[in-house]
Amino acid sequence: MTSRLRWPGVIEAYREFMPVTGQTPVITLREGDTPLLAAPALQERIGLPVPLYLKYEGANPTGSFKDRGMTVAVSKALEERQQAVMCASTGNTAASAAAYAARAGIDCIVVLPIRHIAMGKLAQSVMHGAKVVAIEGNFDDAFRIVVEITGRYPVRLVNSINPHRIEGQKSGAFEICDRLGYAPSYHAIPVGNAGNITAYWKGYKEYREAGRGRRLPKMLGFQAEGAAPIVRGEPVADPRTIATAIKIGNPASWKGAVAARDESGGLIETVTDEEIIEAYKMLASIEGLFVEPASAASVAGVAKLGREGYFVRELQAGVPEDACVVCILTGHGLKDPDCAIQAAEESVSVEADAEAVVELLGLTEPVASHT
Ligand SMILES: *Cc1c(COP(=O)(O)O)cnc(C)c1O
Repeated sequence: MTSRLRWPGVIEAYREFMPVTGQTPVITLREGDTPLLAAPALQERIGLPVPLYLKYEGANPTGSFKDRGMTVAVSKALEERQQAVMCASTGNTAASAAAYAARAGIDCIVVLPIRHIAMGKLAQSVMHGAKVVAIEGNFDDAFRIVVEITGRYPVRLVNSINPHRIEGQKSGAFEICDRLGYAPSYHAIPVGNAGNITAYWKGYKEYREAGRGRRLPKMLGFQAEGAAPIVRGEPVADPRTIATAIKIGNPASWKGAVAARDESGGLIETVTDEEIIEAYKMLASIEGLFVEPASAASVAGVAKLGREGYFVRELQAGVPEDACVVCILTGHGLKDPDCAIQAAEESVSVEADAEAVVELLGLTEPVASHT
């Protein structure tokens, strides 16, 4: 077992699977090795008939899974002597690109749909010294702009259509197989631009080919109901959801997501904002995991499938005894504190006095004293 102190980041941990050579300068913040937690209490609450595991990607250095891909994309950009990287982002790609570019000593330009991004993410990009260009538009507009500009100027695009991003992000699948000892039977994941579902599927396939995964999971992807182009089968011009990280109307890796779904015998479905918020609150209050709203879409989706009898039908069809569900929790809740405050019950304040606090809490004096 590699100890936490010695964990070298995903490029060194899985070097044989990564597009690097001895010449590649490895830019890492020691991303990856995130917690995979059994979640029996949440499993019981949502009535899931198979064990539930949660992979907490908020534990990555910039607070989302984007770091797994960015370590590779920025290392390769440096190897290829690029002076700058650029991306469009709903926030987390920008935060990650800005951090890795800072560490690499190159410039970073981020184009953000300013009215649709969570404050924590904007704060990160600014602090890491990225050039932040705010646009009046949505993510799809920002993406169109960076594709055009990086096609004309010597700036490396680090959105997930950059294949190095996918190569790094597939490490999440390797870690799950290494921790469980095998691939899960079901892999649940939020779908926005669809790079991550594409990357996980690639990772599971490569690991099995290397004799290290035993089986392939069914890929269960979830889009927000107001931003569900893949489910609807056509782009959504004006995507709407509280989950800003998956508020995308025309995913770049659309084909990859459909291939993951169809090759694995899985599905891609919608969850409502209400279902997302319910899962968001359950994760925090039952399991101690504070995630951003988009991340809760995986759990919301599994809960919904459970209510619809999906897993019971699957078990009847003969799923193995060691069947389990892994949900990817893609990013940290502190990214979007406004959402948490809005979702929580309003707090009341009292005067700064112990008796007033006791009264508010309704505490009563103990009957018998302790010895
Ligand atoms: C980027 C992101 C997603 C969506 O991932 P895609 O690869 O775009 O499908 C989901 N949740 C969080 C927190 C993200 O940062």
